[in-house]
Amino acid sequence: MSEGVYGEQATGRVTHGLLRLSTAMRSQAWEWAEGAKLTPTQGEILVLLMQRKGPMRLGEIARETALTAATTSDAVSTLEGKGLVEKRRAIDDGRALAVRLTARGRTAAKRGLQWPNFLAKAVGTLRDDEQAMLYRTLLKTIRQLEAQEQMPTHRMCLSCMHFEASKSPKKAPHHCAILQISMTDTDLRLDCSVYEEADVATQKKSWKVFAQAT
Ligand code: SF4
Repeated sequence: MSEGVYGEQATGRVTHGLLRLSTAMRSQAWEWAEGAKLTPTQGEILVLLMQRKGPMRLGEIARETALTAATTSDAVSTLEGKGLVEKRRAIDDGRALAVRLTARGRTAAKRGLQWPNFLAKAVGTLRDDEQAMLYRTLLKTIRQLEAQEQMPTHRMCLSCMHFEASKSPKKAPHHCAILQISMTDTDLRLDCSVYEEADVATQKKSWKVFAQAT
């Protein structure tokens, strides 16, 4: 790829850098998945089911992974055929199917958590303040992509009704009203089990405070 193909300004350089990272991630994900006789998509579904610690409906899996319903259904059927997941009627709706991990699926999912270690190792070489700034920047980018409907929404602090954003997190931390904890930028969660979505006005207010914080 020629230098500057995404432009010579900072936006183009950052976009180029992120795309190079995505190439490395795709390559590492495939390497792991092939070793486990899966596809990266199947591996991602296993890890998602493990993170959620309970059954998920096909529609939820499709939404969280940004896959089509047909691709999700095919991937889950393949995983079922391999004995890694099982489908049962959802407890709260007998017409819907819920997918959950089998014991073998849980073991495979635990291994699947390890392929991003190469990235964690590289991030770990950054100073603490660099990691904090990177995470803050990633959260802002993810939130922006969510607003543009180009990324699935996350159960993240920035859109949670319990989040109290600080105007100056370096001096006074953010706060979670339900867990009664103080949080620095790097403590903010991307997938919180006690998340509750805030109304639009509250989300806008939190976002404004977070985005403008110094
Ligand atoms: S409940 Fe979870 S997502 Fe919501 S503010 Fe607290 S830690 Fe963040």
